[in-house]
Amino acid sequence: MQTDIIIIGCGPTGVVLANLLGQLGCQVVVLEKQSEIYPVPRATHIDEETLRNFQATGLMPQLAPHTTPFGYAEIVDENGVVLVEDKIEQANNVHGYAGSCFFDQPQFEKVLRDGLARYPNVSLHTGIEAQHIDDHGNAVTVRAKRLSDRAILEFHAAWVVGCDGGGSATRERLQIEMESLAPKLRWLIVDTLLKDMNDTSLLPDRFRYVLDPTRLTIFAYGIGANRRWEFQLGADEATPTEAEVRRWIAPYINPDKVQIVRIAPYAHNSLVAKEWRRGRILLAGDAAHMMPPSAGQGMCSGIRDAINLAWKLAAVQYGQSPESLLDTYVEERAPHLREILKGTLFISNRLQANSPFQRWIRRLTLQLMGAAPPPIQALLRHLSLRHPALETGFIDKSSVWAGRFLPQMNVAWQGNECLLDDVLGYRFALLMKAGAIFGQDTNWAESRNISVWRVGDDFQAPELSRWMRNERLDYVLVRPDHQIFSAGESNLFPQAQAKFEIWWRSN
Ligand SMILES: Cc1cc2nc3c(=O)[nH]c(=O)nc-3n(C[C@H](O)[C@H](O)[C@H](O)COP(=O)(O)OP(=O)(O)OC[C@H]3O[C@@H](n4cnc5c(N)ncnc54)[C@H](O)[C@@H]3O)c2cc1C
Repeated sequence: MQTDIIIIGCGPTGVVLANLLGQLGCQVVVLEKQSEIYPVPRATHIDEETLRNFQATGLMPQLAPHTTPFGYAEIVDENGVVLVEDKIEQANNVHGYAGSCFFDQPQFEKVLRDGLARYPNVSLHTGIEAQHIDDHGNAVTVRAKRLSDRAILEFHAAWVVGCDGGGSATRERLQIEMESLAPKLRWLIVDTLLKDMNDTSLLPDRFRYVLDPTRLTIFAYGIGANRRWEFQLGADEATPTEAEVRRWIAPYINPDKVQIVRIAPYAHNSLVAKEWRRGRILLAGDAAHMMPPSAGQGMCSGIRDAINLAWKLAAVQYGQSPESLLDTYVEERAPHLREILKGTLFISNRLQANSPFQRWIRRLTLQLMGAAPPPIQALLRHLSLRHPALETGFIDKSSVWAGRFLPQMNVAWQGNECLLDDVLGYRFALLMKAGAIFGQDTNWAESRNISVWRVGDDFQAPELSRWMRNERLDYVLVRPDHQIFSAGESNLFPQAQAKFEIWWRSN
């Protein structure tokens, strides 16, 4: 089978990438070894930026019912005394979503897989395990086993993206090493379902770290009846039996009131692949990086990879951009990922303690953090939940706005109230202040497949107009992933055009 792009793995990263590439008209084959979606959630938290990124698939109306506000997270000592409490939201964020959410991962994956049916150019093949990948320089061959009859199938593509998770066969095949940013820690996940929703109030209605002196414990409130415990295990400790797990749960709830659906050992890894692209093969999601779930950023980071990569792959595949555009994927994503990982480690390191003295220090530190005045709280939040702007890559660095997100707000368009990204879509957009004189520049943009919008004329967006006026922006040139390529007064526009041309190949 011949196609433009093969995606190996249809987890959250692969399925979002496939939806975005489908939208852009690329021929895509997705290979997934499992025949069914894994029925138990792994990730539970999505931040505002990631909700916005999911919106780019056009499936938000179907996804939103499977989310609920995240609310508060807290750290309590062994007596239940709350040391730190924080609402999990990025205050004044620009994404158009208020606060993080819990989400139902299997339902999300189902909606996203069903969404692929919108694109005749995308085909999902389940029960197919990719085994060998050969980059011939001008094309890639993937040999895969159909698990039902062990038949070997061959797929040929211009590009392959390994979205095949932490144990990535793609990464292994390329012998790409992972750099470890922190020691591996052993944890046990216990996923349960409340048998009776009337028992909801027996457990906290929030995410909670418990500083149990025997073992650090996480209780995660989940969507619907899902309730999860995570227990830190010692380096050499055996995986407990179900009977032991029931004893570990007993201080929180009578174990008979929950149905245990999964007990799984799980390593908290802090790993980043040393290469994310080799020739025609790229890595995304857990295949490229893994982090502890302390800040709920693993999947969020994979979705960021997908939204950063899809438009670049399409531009290169359509011959609109040189192949080197794909290097900006790595240039942009790798440093961002490391920042997010550092934030995650800032949280998890505050919670580790192996001796009574360390536990005393931990309690004191957390107590001080919890009681700190608002500016210190804001700093701590900044250190743990980071939102770095792009500093390099496909941006016009001469514009101070380059690499930041375009604020998303409500707009009135074609008689409807909707969110700005729904109007702009997953493509380049040039927003111009109503009345600003750009002349031939509109033709320039349109010939480069950039949609041109006169804010206030083409759609009504008083908040956006106010923002552009206050920031003295005559134009905002936005990338498909809603990060600003360049913005400024009209006299800066020729410079932005020149920077854009570096990546645009006029055929
Ligand atoms: C307990 C826990 C809690 C977490 N909490 C959060 C959270 O709250 N928020 C958050 O953002 N993240 C969280 N994460 C992390 C998140 O689950 C992962 O980062 C995310 O699932 C990675 O998505 P992925 O698509 O990159 O990889 P995966 O989800 O691992 O998907 C990879 C897919 O590739 C398939 N595959 C593998 N090999 C092959 C092959 N050779 N051929 C074909 N198919 C193949 C697999 O079957 C799988 O479907 C958590 C993780 C865990 C374990």
